[in-house]
Amino acid sequence: MRKTVLITGASSGIGQETARQFARAGWDVAIHYHSNRAGADLTAQAVTEAGGRAVILQADLSDPTNAQRLMADYDAAFGRLDALINNAGIVDVARRVEEMSPERLMRMFTVNLTVPFLLAGLAAKRMSTRHGGAGGVIVNVSSVAARLGSAGQYVDYASAKAGLDTLTKGLAGEVAGEGVRVVSVRPGIIDTEIHGKGGDPDRAHRLASAIPLGRAGQPYEIGRTILWLASDDASYITGTVIDVSGGR
Ligand code: NAP
Repeated sequence: MRKTVLITGASSGIGQETARQFARAGWDVAIHYHSNRAGADLTAQAVTEAGGRAVILQADLSDPTNAQRLMADYDAAFGRLDALINNAGIVDVARRVEEMSPERLMRMFTVNLTVPFLLAGLAAKRMSTRHGGAGGVIVNVSSVAARLGSAGQYVDYASAKAGLDTLTKGLAGEVAGEGVRVVSVRPGIIDTEIHGKGGDPDRAHRLASAIPLGRAGQPYEIGRTILWLASDDASYITGTVIDVSGGR
């Protein structure tokens, strides 16, 4: 039977490339997007060309009530859920902590932590053998920011990602005996549009020399890792964090 994956934020960058990698490995893919419909269409085309079934799902994940709706839309499209990739995420312009507004914090924590947390719970319910599921894998796309703290840039983002890593550890412990694995992937600086959205489009190239491997990472290097973690080749890996950061 073909496996199915829900990838949030699959309209660009890491999510788009991860969708392509899963399709090439024989998975069917639910492509979630927020505002970039054209990007989601491109992802769907790549999935279809790779022989996978593609379904596009829209949701604004800055509203936590949309987590439930997104999962209901997923259920209507696919009968079962084998993997959830909590990939959608945002940064904001560089600010010191003392300058951060409550509105900014709410948005940052909701998209980067609250909604992935809710989706992980909804996915676990569908996957867990305790609820009649067939098992599965949840991959949370965190960031090395969780370890570095992002002083002077976005400590809010780093804090949300650290929370995601704690979710990985805690949820993995709850469902380990129920056929579900939960893992965090922590990218370093990856060459995607997220830096421009945070007001610093040249960030990946400017900081390349500070990365031990001497370059920014590419989305496919994260996608390959996520795919591997979701596969049976990673059957003994759960409750842990994998850095994919060029040594940073
Ligand atoms: P990206 O190209 O900007 O993609 C972000 C995705 O998140 C897009 O598909 C976007 O959807 C979605 N998204 C943004 N706001 C949303 C909202 N309110 N509701 C629902 N979806 C929303 O960035 P990326 O670099 O691939 O980032 C993917 C993940 O990797 C994020 O979690 C990010 O924190 C993490 N990460 C990235 C880096 C890096 O250097 N690039 C490093 C560490 C961690 P639309 O475009 O359709 O609105």
